[in-house]
Amino acid sequence: MKQITKEVFFIPGQDDMIPDSHVYLIGNPSSKDLSLVDAGLMGKGKYKIESIQGLGFELTDVKRVIMTHTHLDHIGCLGEILEAVPNAELWVHTHEAELLEQGDERAVYGMDMFQSMCQAQYGIRPGAFKFRVDRKLEGGDTLDLGGTEWEVLHIPGHSAGSIGLYNRHDKILIPGDTVYADYAIGRFDLYGANGAQLKESLLGLAELEVDILLPGHNRIVGAVPAGYILETAKQWGPYLS
Ligand SMILES: [Zn+2]
Ligand SMILES: [Zn+2]
Repeated sequence: MKQITKEVFFIPGQDDMIPDSHVYLIGNPSSKDLSLVDAGLMGKGKYKIESIQGLGFELTDVKRVIMTHTHLDHIGCLGEILEAVPNAELWVHTHEAELLEQGDERAVYGMDMFQSMCQAQYGIRPGAFKFRVDRKLEGGDTLDLGGTEWEVLHIPGHSAGSIGLYNRHDKILIPGDTVYADYAIGRFDLYGANGAQLKESLLGLAELEVDILLPGHNRIVGAVPAGYILETAKQWGPYLS
């Protein structure tokens, strides 16, 4: 667990055969209103919960889990985490919330072959990823998370219901798997993905002032160079149509 700002904490993913998403904990500790962003891969909930406790946070202060999107590497241990924080709400963008509520797992696994492989490998039963969603997010929503303000950006392309969370005050962007450090972007070949939309989403993000980039995987960036996302969009542009 690493402290990024007074109100944002970083719990790095522990990659397995499949990547495990990073988790971010948001909120002023004194507010007792903490939010987790994403959960992670199956079996990776316990150490994330322990990381939260390790910093002296009370689990009862975790009020919600906000998903940047619902791929398996982000939602795999959501059940484990919600067991530890049973009163936490689940907030997901409308496009993927509706699938989750119906138990439609196409967005979770992304492709049929991956579904059968993961179900066998991890012993996951079909229908394991049916959840009630307490709040369906939309682009343009403003969230007050423990005394900090975040804008919800709908950034489809990597998946249909991908969102970014943007803190304009501290210029922090949590883009899920849409853009990473080192000019990398999320894949755009899975269920609900769309290269042209991903390009539009990147160009939209490029208009934001971003100092701190907190992606779903790999390196986090504490001093983002100006124009970084635009340059990334340009480099990938020819492949995104
Ligand atoms: Zn993803
Ligand atoms: Zn991911």
